[in-house]
Amino acid sequence: MGSGFEITVVAEDITEANSFIDVAVEEIARIEKLISSWDVNSQTSAINKYAGVKPIKVNVELFELIERSISISNLTDGAFDISYASIDKIWKFDGTMSLMPSAEEITNSVKKVGYRNIVLDKEKHTVFLSLLGMKIGFGAIGKGYAADKAKQLLISKGVTAGIINASGDMNTWGKQIDGDDWTVAIVNPLNKKQVFATLPISNGAVVTSGDYEKYVEFNGKRYSHIINPRTGYPSTGLISVTVFAPKAELADALATSVFVMGVEAGLDRINQLPKVECIIIDDKGNISKSKNIEIDSL
Ligand code: ADP
Ligand code: MG
Repeated sequence: MGSGFEITVVAEDITEANSFIDVAVEEIARIEKLISSWDVNSQTSAINKYAGVKPIKVNVELFELIERSISISNLTDGAFDISYASIDKIWKFDGTMSLMPSAEEITNSVKKVGYRNIVLDKEKHTVFLSLLGMKIGFGAIGKGYAADKAKQLLISKGVTAGIINASGDMNTWGKQIDGDDWTVAIVNPLNKKQVFATLPISNGAVVTSGDYEKYVEFNGKRYSHIINPRTGYPSTGLISVTVFAPKAELADALATSVFVMGVEAGLDRINQLPKVECIIIDDKGNISKSKNIEIDSL
């Protein structure tokens, strides 16, 4: 998924642990194959290829992931939108961009964006992107989904405790061997050596959006890889958003959403969701948190 996964399990011995880890790795690889938009043979690529042309029949699993993605778009007033992906054509965060896209290009790019143009047929399990050139991508939710699935599978195999770490996004269950909860440290993104909070996470996920390595700079201004689907411009103002939720998928999608929504609208929405909390750091270093988060060192 363009990022490393690290898997920790509690097991009887190293052989058993390794076999569980293999199961998780295989599961993550399977999901990557299903949702990747780089792999031309994936079902996701077929949906994109036939945008504006015809509906594509997909696995129930992919269908349901798309359904849930659309629900999150509704929940976040469109801040989260898997159809952001056609904007990928103009913003590239791989070091190949040398010019800022023109205002016209940006305006044009958002014409193909809009989750309301993703047409699902529940009976036939087909997905149709109704506009030519439209595209979906799971960059903001796929890692979380894969982590949840790997965790679920390990639990079904009898693994009592573990951590799926997707480049810093943590999904845990059970307790450590000594009976203690798993503890997650939250670092200050401006100074990664500074841990400003440690929190016990017994069964749930912590996901941070705001990858410093993925941005472009024009005229001294930094543009992040998280795009506001309504404007076509990368979102600005925030440095990192950390979301706590029972599931990694929701945490992943909401972290991206809050990044777009900003502090006020973001916290307002998070505060309405049960068992979901967040910590936001803006580009001036200010820290904001949702109402049920207690952090001693804040
Ligand atoms: P990361 O874990 O890399 O910091 P996120 O989970 O926030 O990132 O996902 C960012 C990725 O999601 C982007 O690289 C892009 O592929 C995709 N994306 C960007 N903006 C949006 C958006 N508004 N809605 C949905 N997906 C987005
Ligand atoms: Mg995300």
